[in-house]
Amino acid sequence: MPELAYLNGVIRPINETYVPIEDRGYQFGDAVYEFVASYNGKFFCMKEHLDRLEKSMEGLSFPKVDRNFIQNAIAELFEKAGMARAGLYIQISRGVAPRDHAWAKDIKLQIIMTIKKVDELDSKIRKQGIDIITVQDERWSNCDIKTVQILFNAMAKQKAKDQGAFDAIFISKDGIVREGTSSNFFIVKDGVIITHPLTKNILPGITRMVVMDLARNLGIKAEEKFLSKTDLFSAEEAFLTGTITEILGIKTIDGVPIGKGKPGEITQKLYRALREKAE
Ligand code: PMP
Repeated sequence: MPELAYLNGVIRPINETYVPIEDRGYQFGDAVYEFVASYNGKFFCMKEHLDRLEKSMEGLSFPKVDRNFIQNAIAELFEKAGMARAGLYIQISRGVAPRDHAWAKDIKLQIIMTIKKVDELDSKIRKQGIDIITVQDERWSNCDIKTVQILFNAMAKQKAKDQGAFDAIFISKDGIVREGTSSNFFIVKDGVIITHPLTKNILPGITRMVVMDLARNLGIKAEEKFLSKTDLFSAEEAFLTGTITEILGIKTIDGVPIGKGKPGEITQKLYRALREKAE
């Protein structure tokens, strides 16, 4: 089953696909993206991902792309790849032009996509939970727009790995717990799941939204509230959510065990419900 790339209408193997050097995504981070996963040959929450993609494009004043056009391109790529459990990466840049901070009015969007197999996370990690560290959030102030400017996220993830942890969560300068490097963050307190409200400081995660719905259906209360770093250490459970992360229980934060030091009951219940919904 081939890993394929789509570049402005042409589908080819990934390693035979090249983006022009003056793509603004490459030189200015002037691009938005989405990552969508399929389960058993069907994409999960595709509509929600495309809604967010359009919002991100609006956020950078990109011209609109016809939704049907994108959907057809995705369908063609997905069919050609023939993967049941695939990860689809879509990136739309403002276009290709001689390097200049401002852009010409007639610049044309450049659409790329790749499709690859999703490797399931080691079940041992999922069962035992992960160690995470906290990092001060030094990202720009429009984290609700899913741009490819994620260098600080990459550096925080690397810092976590270098310290033997699995991931990092961002804490604002005034001590508010924001989100993970590529995930949203929740705690469980008094049986209630709590996460950061939707502001410009976090990405409106699709999994975050699904998890809040699932919780309510399971009779678990879900709240959006600003959490401080000290709230973390009195939590019964904590977990990350994301398209690839799904729901991942946290064992320790900065070396301090959370709850019983392993994924808690609510985390596990929500994970099972998410897999059931996606599959
Ligand atoms: N926050 C950030 C910074 C992310 O990169 C991601 C992954 N796209 C998420 C949250 C989770 O979003 P989703 O559930 O839509 O994958």
